[in-house]
Amino acid sequence: MEFVAVAVAGLVGSFCSTLSPTTELAWVNRLCSRGDIASELGSFLSPNANIHFPRSEGFLESTNRWSTLGTPNISVVVEVANENDVAETIKYANTHSLPFLAVNGGHGAISSLEAVNNGIQIWLNQLNSISIAKDGSTATIGGGAPSKHITETLWAENKQTVTGICECTSLIGPGLGGGHGALQANYRLVADQFVSLDMVLANGTLITVDENSDLWWGMKGAGHNFGVVTSITSKICDVPHNGLWSYTNFIFTHDKVEVLYETINEMLLPDQPQDIISFSFFTNIPAIDPENSVVIFFILREGKEAVGSEYTDPFTNLAKWLRMEETSPPCQKEGNTQLRFPVDLQEFNPTAQHAAFDLFSKTANEAPALAASLFLLEGYSIQGVKVIPADSTAVPNRDANLLISSYLVYKPDGEGLDTKAWDLGENMRQILFKGSGQEHMYSYVNYAAGNEGPRSWYGYEPWRLEKLRALKEKYDPEHRFSFYAPFD
Ligand SMILES: Cc1cc2nc3c(=O)[nH]c(=O)nc-3n(C[C@H](O)[C@H](O)[C@H](O)COP(=O)(O)OP(=O)(O)OC[C@H]3O[C@@H](n4cnc5c(N)ncnc54)[C@H](O)[C@@H]3O)c2cc1C
Repeated sequence: MEFVAVAVAGLVGSFCSTLSPTTELAWVNRLCSRGDIASELGSFLSPNANIHFPRSEGFLESTNRWSTLGTPNISVVVEVANENDVAETIKYANTHSLPFLAVNGGHGAISSLEAVNNGIQIWLNQLNSISIAKDGSTATIGGGAPSKHITETLWAENKQTVTGICECTSLIGPGLGGGHGALQANYRLVADQFVSLDMVLANGTLITVDENSDLWWGMKGAGHNFGVVTSITSKICDVPHNGLWSYTNFIFTHDKVEVLYETINEMLLPDQPQDIISFSFFTNIPAIDPENSVVIFFILREGKEAVGSEYTDPFTNLAKWLRMEETSPPCQKEGNTQLRFPVDLQEFNPTAQHAAFDLFSKTANEAPALAASLFLLEGYSIQGVKVIPADSTAVPNRDANLLISSYLVYKPDGEGLDTKAWDLGENMRQILFKGSGQEHMYSYVNYAAGNEGPRSWYGYEPWRLEKLRALKEKYDPEHRFSFYAPFD
């Protein structure tokens, strides 16, 4: 059986070598990458690596994405087992002028990924090792390790590091764009934990990047654009207060929207206490209000048995955990389109909040297909984020208090529904942005829809993009890493 496969691959290989690498016939491209890869790349890969072809179980599993937005066109998946497999795959792709894309948790959802055509997916799921250094101050973590695995492994040793709040994404996916999380007030962003990164560059070279490299700056905030990270050494620390957190949640009906956000402004912003997280979202709960959306508001406090009446009373007078576990609805990959339209805010404009809420509520009524959508308003405290000098990493706008984004979810059903969802998301963020009076719209790169543009993702100071472009010319002059929020 194996002999037949190799013989067929050989024939296909000879046929393909006669073609121009730029041929636009999709079936020829698919056939050729298949034939070449089995015979040419396979023998360079380590024994645990796998090549998955379309319709195989491994292909379907690895290309199943969180959102259909910007679905890359993948013709073959290389499941790598070590950094050398990554290097060989990149060299193979370069030789055949094929695009390649690193895929980790598969939760990246930005329209620019659509530019991957007939690409090789480098699937990192086997790179999930975690080892804690003897002195307990760092851990070396595989470039494909998911957040839940990291958190649980570290917690078993009474250690923690900053991850995103969702268990289902990887650590490095969020980290390359900065990485916001529940621990940031005390420990800074995910990217601020990096001590060094082992990575493979666009020409297949393996390098270690740390604070002595000029690439260090760009990897923290714009790292998707420079290489495939195969492992990171990250700062870790002891879990304080026995990991104690408390929370309270409230559900507010539509008539309370303005007063809720006025109260959050008064109680918590702009200098939200370091041990507090506030988090709200617009959602639809027909059993509570069949005609209007509602707001669910959480307040969390670290290190205390209860949030405390000094924080909860103002909200109690107005009126499950964050639903971000691996098994919770926001984590699932169910063939849905999921759209986010992020905008950073300093504080809430209650009138704009009301207008955005009304639009969300009205659209859910008119288009029941969008009724499972949320609108997220995340208020992580930022003392730790601001402590890092603004110009020392590619993360822009470290002063932002609030991360806002729609999270519109629906089963794909044609252009009409896509347009309705896209309009809703864009209009809601425009309402909030205009209401903020802010000069620039910053859109967190890890939540970006794709239409915001590089200044919105990487910063409006001209030197930021100039510096990124200079790094690009040095480390990826052929622009091979140009699919996730590119700035070129
Ligand atoms: C349910 C959910 C919850 C989220 N929660 C948070 C949160 O709490 N905080 C936060 O900051 N963000 C959060 N995000 C956004 C998240 O940061 C991005 O969606 C991120 O891209 C997800 O990474 P991934 O590895 O899961 O996805 P992938 O699609 O696998 O990766 C996204 C992109 O990152 C690049 N990439 C990934 N791994 C590597 C690597 N090892 N080397 C080089 N490039 C790589 C690739 O370009 C890839 O296209 C959340 C997203 C979702 C869907």
